[in-house]
Amino acid sequence: MERVLLSLGSNLGDRENFLATALEKISVHKEIDIIQKSPIINTDPMDVLEQPDFLNQVVEIKTSLHPVQLLDYLQSIEIELGRIRRVPKGPREIDIDILTFGDQQIQTERLSVPHHSMESRPFVRDLISKLEPF
Ligand code: AMP
Repeated sequence: MERVLLSLGSNLGDRENFLATALEKISVHKEIDIIQKSPIINTDPMDVLEQPDFLNQVVEIKTSLHPVQLLDYLQSIEIELGRIRRVPKGPREIDIDILTFGDQQIQTERLSVPHHSMESRPFVRDLISKLEPF
């Protein structure tokens, strides 16, 4: 089992509902246990500035899945929740990123872990410091 930090973000439609539904779908996987979750905060868009604010949350899970299996599952949730890939870094119903995966360093075509937002988005560290039991 590895401890994994996930980042959830939404800036389209019913943002709170997208985060809650994503969390629910993550929690039902039999190889995933949710350990902690952060509060939900509103953040200004970065990179592409002409888009709505995001709601963001960080979640800590334990999983026996391999990193790519976890990515596949998270991407299936993104698709189920109706995420259409529009502009890179643009608006999205739901975005789920793998921030860290145990202490693994991964650099492949599909996965870059730790995720760059650990460094580029100061609120991510802030949310990690506010994790509370699920
Ligand atoms: P985005 O549009 O920001 O969700 O980026 C999605 C792409 O990022 C996917 O094709 C993933 O394969 C890739 N990716 C690379 N590293 C990660 C990561 N740590 N977590 C989630 N997706 C990642």
